[in-house]
Amino acid sequence: MAINETLLQLIWQYSLYKPGNLITQSGESVTILFPGVLNRNAGPDFFEAKVKVGNTLLVGNVELHINSSDWLKHGHQEDPAYQRLILHVVYNNDVPDVVAHTPVLQLAPHIPAHIITQYSNLLQAPQSIPCSAQLPNVKDIIKESWLSRLLAERWEQKLLEWEELLTKSAGDWHNLMYWRTAANFGFKVNTHPFMMLAQSLPLNILAKHHENLLQIEAVVFGQAGFLEGDFEDDYPRNLQREYDYLRKKYKLTPIHPHLWKFMRMRPANFPTIRLAQFAALVHKSVHLFSQVVEIATGKELQPLFDVKASEYWDTHFKFDEPSAESSPKRLGKSSIDNIIINTIAPIQFLYAEQQGVSGLKERALQLLDTIPAEKNNIISIWDANKWPAQNATRSQAMIQLYNRYCSSKRCLECPIGLSIIRAVPVEG
Ligand code: SF4
Repeated sequence: MAINETLLQLIWQYSLYKPGNLITQSGESVTILFPGVLNRNAGPDFFEAKVKVGNTLLVGNVELHINSSDWLKHGHQEDPAYQRLILHVVYNNDVPDVVAHTPVLQLAPHIPAHIITQYSNLLQAPQSIPCSAQLPNVKDIIKESWLSRLLAERWEQKLLEWEELLTKSAGDWHNLMYWRTAANFGFKVNTHPFMMLAQSLPLNILAKHHENLLQIEAVVFGQAGFLEGDFEDDYPRNLQREYDYLRKKYKLTPIHPHLWKFMRMRPANFPTIRLAQFAALVHKSVHLFSQVVEIATGKELQPLFDVKASEYWDTHFKFDEPSAESSPKRLGKSSIDNIIINTIAPIQFLYAEQQGVSGLKERALQLLDTIPAEKNNIISIWDANKWPAQNATRSQAMIQLYNRYCSSKRCLECPIGLSIIRAVPVEG
């Protein structure tokens, strides 16, 4: 496999070349005291490097290229950002002296063959986890510290979006909790319509009517767009009547019913059932935020979300369509765990961060330790690779690792990949 620039950067950054006998194109000895700080934005690849060329100590920027001629191809000679280079590091020095007054170091002869072979093996591995063969040999400490960073990375992305929602809610944490809990009740497939529904139905209306379950169900199903048309059963007709009144009173506009997805879903997860459970939750407790913000374990949180859709749904999955069997449609333990993982813990974390509440941030992270790992395809892949997730802290990090790194083969940005690439093979 041919080397690429990202691998060359990694080799430079982590000094994976053989250190002795480095010399410039003009024959001066080179000692790398500090490779510099990797720059992921425009401009030279490394800033603030410290290099001794001959007897002269140089401090400044370093640029890396596979071929020295890439300097011209990339048009750097015209760019003032590249004016103050102290070293041009290349794999092939195909055009000598391409950067005026800058020493050139050709790295190819100093790169151990196993670095390129091991990287190439990772890139070409057909498995969904390309490093699956080497993973058991990677030290636990590398895996553990990487998982902690991945969880923070996952939350940082998520919480950026939540901060925008909090601004949209004029800093109202109860409203943020209401929107995010509603979105969570969509369980991925119906997240979007659930969020639209919540944003179309102000929390203060729910607060005013929360003691009357029928009215809460009426505004929830009505705003979801499910109360249009004619019905045979009394239950939807009653909901319709209540909704007509409340809709006019509060000047509400429902969302389109076609936004809801029922396809390839178990009937117990139909949006109709989730809406009925959501209405039951609002009826039970309309201002959840103040109740959940300081709770530290899944065990204490479970009862707050232990709700059941109203009786009609024992024998229906949709309006006017009786089901063959009767069964209570309770929000299950794994659904509640999902809400704790995806809504409660992140909102506790964000609240702690914004309010500067000491200890709550750590508690939010520890809350996930008390929840079992999710069961999904990604976690099954890690299980099959003998790296099981013991709790939700780990499963969340492992989902991030798979989605953001393994599936797009970003092994060079992963400490596990780095440790595999740099490992010296044992002579057989
Ligand atoms: S990104 Fe890391 S964990 Fe994933 S396959 Fe590559 S080396 Fe392995």
